[in-house]
Amino acid sequence: MNIGIVGGGPAGLFFAWLVKRHDPSHRIRIVERDPADATYGWGVVFSDVALSFVRDIAPELHAEITRGQLRHDAMRIVHRGQEVMLPNNPFHRMARIDLLRTLRAQCALRGIAIEYGRRVEALDEFADCDLVVAADGAGSAIRTRHAGEFGPALDLRPNWLAWYGTTRLFDPLTLIFRSVPAGLMIAHAYRYSATHSTFLVECDPETFRTAGFDRMSAGESLAACADAFRDDLDGEPLLSNRSDWFRYAIVSNRRWHWRNVVLLGDALRTGHPSVGSGTRLAMQDSIALFEACVAAPRDVPAALADFELRRRPGSDALQAAAIRSTEWYESVRDRLALDPVSFAYDYLRRTGRVSHDDIRRRDPALAAAYDALHPEGPPP
Ligand SMILES: Cc1cc2nc3c(=O)[nH]c(=O)nc-3n(C[C@H](O)[C@H](O)[C@H](O)COP(=O)(O)OP(=O)(O)OC[C@H]3O[C@@H](n4cnc5c(N)ncnc54)[C@H](O)[C@@H]3O)c2cc1C
Repeated sequence: MNIGIVGGGPAGLFFAWLVKRHDPSHRIRIVERDPADATYGWGVVFSDVALSFVRDIAPELHAEITRGQLRHDAMRIVHRGQEVMLPNNPFHRMARIDLLRTLRAQCALRGIAIEYGRRVEALDEFADCDLVVAADGAGSAIRTRHAGEFGPALDLRPNWLAWYGTTRLFDPLTLIFRSVPAGLMIAHAYRYSATHSTFLVECDPETFRTAGFDRMSAGESLAACADAFRDDLDGEPLLSNRSDWFRYAIVSNRRWHWRNVVLLGDALRTGHPSVGSGTRLAMQDSIALFEACVAAPRDVPAALADFELRRRPGSDALQAAAIRSTEWYESVRDRLALDPVSFAYDYLRRTGRVSHDDIRRRDPALAAAYDALHPEGPPP
């Protein structure tokens, strides 16, 4: 097959690698908007489950991706200045750029051409391709240009986010809820390398306006966030890497493919940073599309229909969980009166995918502490 891929992120790269490993005679070309050495973003986290999908289908790539990677079993919630540890919540962390470098190097080893530094606006240049994969991220130009065919919906969430880094090493992954004069500021912080942590700041629209973030320069915002989390940063600086405020869009599409063009990863559907699932969703898409192509080797329309059939249920379920998690953060002010144990418990149950019994198995001490505080029993 002759395959054109728009976007050299995890979705496009992993799909290309899988296809080429299966059959080196496929011709694959990836066009990536950013230069090869772009380093946008900080670290990302993956659950154990997320990487198990990669390990099962590509153990050799899994070994490369996880080489030297940090893994931690616990997380910590800071509410009202008190810490609650949540054991048995394992996370892998790595620099986003390291993940991309590994995937790109592994693609190059298999002879996949990646053309950097060029933004694709239209599909004309892929006219000779049997299959075109639009893996160009949440703001997909291909999806936007062919909105009539894909039927995208973009649900722009109200909370504001800024993706900072810091040299304060947050072990384990830490969620900080800080009441400030303007309202509530939240930080999602985790160490991802020997020297740096991700420090994603989130606040609701009221806090955003009252704090004056809508009128501040990028530098002023950074200084104000560093000030709000002064005690947590412990003297270490907050760092910017194009860390402008943004609102997260939950993307979905009525149709996943059109003719020989298919959407993949964030272009197809986004999760939310609060469940750390975007890369997992993207890489699961790659696996499902690869398997569908193998099952219908000379029939692209059949393969694309099969891809959607295989992938839609799992994708929809995880996106629904991501939306519930998003809503939890958006309404968290209503829960600030909870004591730290009940607050942490409520956090764990936020997506509807974790039951009281799950918590009892994973963290008997927390379940017991919750039961002692709530003789009426847990919510259903
Ligand atoms: C603040 C923040 C924190 C996150 N944290 C996590 C986390 O902890 N864990 C996690 O799993 N996920 C996280 N995510 C989500 C994760 O980054 C994405 O879900 C994942 O990268 C999706 O992979 P992708 O390949 O579909 O898209 P992307 O990674 O967005 O890759 C798309 C690629 O296409 C390129 N491109 C775009 N337009 C064009 C064009 N027109 N022509 C050519 N190239 C183009 C882009 O430069 C990019 O390289 C986070 C996201 C955000 C915003």
